[in-house]
Amino acid sequence: AAEGAPGKTYVIGTDITFAPFEFQDASGKFVGIDMDLLEAIAKDQNFKYEIKPLGFNAAVQALEAKQVDGVIAGMSITEERKQKFELSEPYFQSGVVMAIGKNNDSVKSYEDLQGKKVAVKTGTEGYRFAESIAAEYSFTIVPFDDSAQMYEDVKTGNSVACFDDYPVLAYGVNQNNGLKIVTEKEVGGSYGFAVNKGMNQELMNKFNAGLANLQTNGQYDQILEKYLGENA
Ligand code: GLN
Repeated sequence: AAEGAPGKTYVIGTDITFAPFEFQDASGKFVGIDMDLLEAIAKDQNFKYEIKPLGFNAAVQALEAKQVDGVIAGMSITEERKQKFELSEPYFQSGVVMAIGKNNDSVKSYEDLQGKKVAVKTGTEGYRFAESIAAEYSFTIVPFDDSAQMYEDVKTGNSVACFDDYPVLAYGVNQNNGLKIVTEKEVGGSYGFAVNKGMNQELMNKFNAGLANLQTNGQYDQILEKYLGENA
């Protein structure tokens, strides 16, 4: 179908494990803030879509390769990404923090990473940040494709720390994922929905219009509260 034609089903790429934004519930269904927001926006704006849980980096690459129409994946709005993609209005504030094993009492700051391995997630802001300070604090970066693998590497003790988005790590720590956060938030990109520049403008317009409606009618707050409780 032509772009924006009625009946068109947009293909939307997302991450695999990035709770509370996208993750599988007990029945295998993808749920989370991003999933619920997109569902509510699509209902509000009357469009159809299909979710492709590709992993974060793969989803961004699929967008660049025009294999998907859009990406919603806790994707930070950055200057670099704005060169390539069109990003929606921001819908959630984030920032990068460092986490270590919950029983580790020896790492308190970046200085304590010297000579150690640090787990990061390919293609993310957390990776970018860790890379930017790796030489200064003499640590080695170990890349992973998804957040769950990255956390596992810290839990098993191969890496001493990892860098990920604050809302995701805070949620995981709350769910007893075996880690604890030891630093203040660093870079603070907000999350946005992305399409390719000059493509799917109608989808982007609908996303922004639907988001604004949800923020006005209370549905946005309800979705946040569903996943974040009183921390919303
Ligand atoms: N917000 C981070 C980024 O955009 C991480 C996103 C993710 O891992 N899903 O780079």
